[in-house]
Amino acid sequence: MGGRDFPPHVAYIAIGSNLGDRISFCREALHQLQRAVLIKKVSSLYETEPVDYGNQGWFYNAVIEIETPLSPRRLLDVCQLIEQKMGKKIEIPKGPRTIDLDLLFYNQVIIHDEGLTVPHPAIPHRRFVLVPLSEIAPQLNHPTLQKTATVLLSQLKQGETVQQRYPAGWEGGL
Ligand code: ADP
Ligand code: MG
Repeated sequence: MGGRDFPPHVAYIAIGSNLGDRISFCREALHQLQRAVLIKKVSSLYETEPVDYGNQGWFYNAVIEIETPLSPRRLLDVCQLIEQKMGKKIEIPKGPRTIDLDLLFYNQVIIHDEGLTVPHPAIPHRRFVLVPLSEIAPQLNHPTLQKTATVLLSQLKQGETVQQRYPAGWEGGL
């Protein structure tokens, strides 16, 4: 039983899908994640207007809170393995994908590494992240901006449409 690392780290992961059976892809991603980490909270599932690259279908998005002894890099590896396993292929940058898993926060840690930036740099600009994040962690502090999720959301200018499609429980029991 080596390698114990308590207390567990608390992290937030964004889930997105805009190809095929979107709710099933989001559910499948959660079930895969559950094999590697402890899922503590799941937001509602939102349907959201695509940003960055407009000529694609609307997304389903959610945010989850997890606990894990894994390092940030290992956690990203887990996310990327699940993406690969679920057949993620991106032909256009920011374009359509069956599943996207982004590491949003890892405790109050700040990382600027090759291939890993934490907190995820797009958080303050993305309503589709801030709405579900504020739902499950309204008081969560952004370690570089020193603002809560709720404040970041309130400071966002008019942005993409984000509408709740399924309340918490959409994941079908973990
Ligand atoms: P998108 O930016 O559209 O989500 P990808 O999911 O393909 O595109 O991610 C592109 C790259 O972003 C990945 O190769 C990954 O290494 C890098 N990356 C950097 N920081 C993060 C993070 N916090 N979470 C997820 N991916 C990240
Ligand atoms: Mg991604």
